[in-house]
Amino acid sequence: MYDLIIIGGGPAGAAAAIYAARKRLKTLVIAKEFAGQSVVSEDIQNWVGTIHISGKELADNMKAHILAYSDGAIEIKEGEKVIACKKLAKGFSVTTNNPSAGSGRGKTYKAKTVLVTVGSSRRKLSIPGADIYENKGITYCASCDGPLFSGQDVIVVGGGNAGFETASQLLAYAKSVTLLNNVKDYFADPVTVKKVLAHPNMKGITDVTPVKVEGDKFATSLTYQNNKTGKLTTLSTGGIFVEIGLAPATSFIKGTVKMTPGGQIKVDPRNGKTSELGIWAAGDCTDLPYHQNNIAVGDAVRALEDIYVFLKTK
Ligand SMILES: Cc1cc2nc3c(=O)[nH]c(=O)nc-3n(C[C@H](O)[C@H](O)[C@H](O)COP(=O)(O)OP(=O)(O)OC[C@H]3O[C@@H](n4cnc5c(N)ncnc54)[C@H](O)[C@@H]3O)c2cc1C
Repeated sequence: MYDLIIIGGGPAGAAAAIYAARKRLKTLVIAKEFAGQSVVSEDIQNWVGTIHISGKELADNMKAHILAYSDGAIEIKEGEKVIACKKLAKGFSVTTNNPSAGSGRGKTYKAKTVLVTVGSSRRKLSIPGADIYENKGITYCASCDGPLFSGQDVIVVGGGNAGFETASQLLAYAKSVTLLNNVKDYFADPVTVKKVLAHPNMKGITDVTPVKVEGDKFATSLTYQNNKTGKLTTLSTGGIFVEIGLAPATSFIKGTVKMTPGGQIKVDPRNGKTSELGIWAAGDCTDLPYHQNNIAVGDAVRALEDIYVFLKTK
């Protein structure tokens, strides 16, 4: 029986593991891959204390950091995917499969507590050109990539709070921001919509569907269709920011902890506790707003501190 099983090997999982090692908690880290979402990023410029670093180097550093202080406290199972997490009479069981060995060939581990840090993936545009220009003009993170598009005409796809938050960040750099929404009404809070759309460099276009992205080395235009008239319009652009939702990797724990309809795990923001005593969650898989490496790390550390208190005082 482990003290703690951490599910996930992104920034949140790594941060929790480093703290768990220093507190000598008998911990198992299970990670499908030992890297976070930003592993594909060429240049991360907002990792505090490091002027810039590639996503791959950041992921490698995190793993090395855990191993440097592990000293027998931390065990890592890399390449196993968690497929179930259940409450037992005492503690929890966590069952995995091994993707490279095929399903059904995994194991069940037991722990007194569980920290879920499985992250999310961004819902992608699935239109011609979207694959070709991903990370070549199409991006999913304004606070990561916004400054790269300084002085350019950019497009935001998505009219929810994330879309408007992205537009508002981009207005600080871009020459103009055009936000495309697939229905007539925006999903974002009316106050935010009003404020962002009032900016002279901002334009909102509703009831339209993006149909293709074109370019050469990088994306240079997006074509959308008016849902009512069918008319096609092509906008020239330097960058396309996609904010059409998140897909949290939480299906394995559905029914054990409370979630939002979109599958984000509901947590107490003061400590990362979920609705199930003994299970915590942190990072992009939770219902807390704003998704960044530094935030995932901070949330996971806070949760780990709470787990430690729970284990030592119960
Ligand atoms: C392209 C891109 C660029 C970005 N650039 C930046 C940036 O410059 N700066 C910044 O601050 N943020 C950036 N972000 C956001 C940042 O990457 C995320 O906020 C951060 O990675 C969240 O960390 P996390 O640990 O919660 O989740 P994730 O990073 O998503 O990690 C989840 C972990 O869980 C594992 N996992 C998932 N499901 C299972 C399962 N069932 N069983 C076992 N393991 C599982 C995954 O393999 C992974 O190890 C970027 C995001 C993207 C997509």
